[in-house]
Amino acid sequence: AQDRYAGLRDLPATGRCGTTVQLYMNAGLMADLPSLEGSGAEGVGLFRTELQFLVRNHVPRRAELAGLYARVMDNAQGKPVMFRTLDIGSDKVLPYMKPQDEPNPAMGWRAIRVGLDKRGVLRMQLQALIRASVGRPLHVMFPFIADIGEYEDAYRILMQEMAREQRLGHAMPSDIRVGAMLETPSMAFAPKRFFEMCDFVSIGGNDLKQFFFAADRENERVRRRYDTLNLSFLALLRQIVRRCDEARVPLSFCGEDAGRPIEALVFAALGIHRLSMRPASIGPVKHLIRRISITELARVIAQAEADGIPSVRGPVTEWLARQ
Ligand code: PEP
Ligand code: MG
Repeated sequence: AQDRYAGLRDLPATGRCGTTVQLYMNAGLMADLPSLEGSGAEGVGLFRTELQFLVRNHVPRRAELAGLYARVMDNAQGKPVMFRTLDIGSDKVLPYMKPQDEPNPAMGWRAIRVGLDKRGVLRMQLQALIRASVGRPLHVMFPFIADIGEYEDAYRILMQEMAREQRLGHAMPSDIRVGAMLETPSMAFAPKRFFEMCDFVSIGGNDLKQFFFAADRENERVRRRYDTLNLSFLALLRQIVRRCDEARVPLSFCGEDAGRPIEALVFAALGIHRLSMRPASIGPVKHLIRRISITELARVIAQAEADGIPSVRGPVTEWLARQ
């Protein structure tokens, strides 16, 4: 399917109004990296580091991880890679981790909560990332931040590890950019300082939506029940865009919805100008963006919101059919 869009590979995702949307890809394994070239992605907007932990039967060692992260960056050939620190727990259970037997794993001991409670693993992973980035920029993103304190703690640990590497006389990354994944509604209302502390923010739409509608993303009975283009969810996204604009933090969206054509257009129209998706979605999304005016779509959405239509999907689809 990607071949159909091969001609677009080196062209920007610029709408007819002149607004450009940056399209990144999601990845997690070395095998994903060749797609960076083929898809024309601007970089890896989400590198799910837990996949490397899931495919082994032991905790990987620091040197092993550093080698792997360095190869990922070599393959990216200077394009940015946003490394998300371990997001385990919930649906991602490590074979060598004691099962937690929690009543609600999705809301349980997972992601940064595990990282902050088991700091040795988080520190080891950060050391590996720092060592892998010698002489080049490092992008680190912390998953599932639910309050500013968690972000501050994770941030401090990263800075301590940077200082430690320096003290040891090791060569350092040329630059470091730190971000948070916004995956719980609480963070849309976090103190301004949180946004100011972030070099970038990325919406983890899969989790954000799960918690906003209280609908388990793993449960077939309910997972498709609520529309991402529902007015309430758009209001939440608008709030996040506003908060990021206020603090001048670049905002991206990296959940599965970013790769769905109608959703991608709507996110762009709301002001989310970075989208990270599976590589195969980049061509179709780019094709569509280049055909439309994002500014005009923004007016269609605003009108539908003003009219109180439960979901903007209908009006957007109708408008799109006329383009
Ligand atoms: C998300 O929650 O949208 C996300 C990108 O992270 P994951 O799907 O790995 O939880
Ligand atoms: Mg998530």
